[in-house]
Amino acid sequence: MADITQNLKQFKSELPEDVTLVAVSKTKPNEDLQEAYDAGQRIFGENKIQEMTDKWKALPKDIQWHMIGHVQTNKVKYMAPYVSLIHSADRLKLFKEINKEAKKNERVIDVLLQVKIAEEDSKFGMPPEEAKTFLEENKAANYPNVNIVGLMGMASFVDDETQIKREFAQLEKIYNTFKEQYAFSVLSMGMSGDYKLALEYGSTMVRVGSAIFGARNYN
Ligand SMILES: *Cc1c(COP(=O)(O)O)cnc(C)c1O
Repeated sequence: MADITQNLKQFKSELPEDVTLVAVSKTKPNEDLQEAYDAGQRIFGENKIQEMTDKWKALPKDIQWHMIGHVQTNKVKYMAPYVSLIHSADRLKLFKEINKEAKKNERVIDVLLQVKIAEEDSKFGMPPEEAKTFLEENKAANYPNVNIVGLMGMASFVDDETQIKREFAQLEKIYNTFKEQYAFSVLSMGMSGDYKLALEYGSTMVRVGSAIFGARNYN
């Protein structure tokens, strides 16, 4: 079993102070999250809305819940009352739905535009060219209850560091292009296997699961 408290402590000591750690707790039981909470962790990332909502109900109320997985529009309503940041806003239809549900809850929901930087074809996210146009033309302007605070990207699952760097560099470039215009503050980039590389490319938020909670049985 993973020593969550020890792993967290270790991880925190390695991370620059201005980088935010999202503890990715998907598939892990509430006891594991509680242990991380007791060790001081307050930001947790989940990739399924139902699972996140169950955990939100069961665990301390000062936890900030981040949705990091693909979002189906018909499920936005379940997290709209409480979600703290949605990393995976990747299409206009989803912005529209988040706006609608945020409004119902009298909130403005912070989101990241997820950009598809992985050269392999398996990831979600808006293709880079489309993302640039989306930001240039401020296509989310009609959705005042959605606040784009930055970008998120996932690199390919490969050993080739040059490729991973190329992908992170691409996202950093888009981030810097629009940073001022949008007052961006979050570049969510890097997981257990590649967060060190992500930090070299300006990541301000890393999403780390297995390095804290141990390997998952499934994704
Ligand atoms: C699962 C997941 C992570 C964490 O992955 P680890 O390799 O366990 O650190 C990060 N980001 C996203 C989007 C994920 O789905």
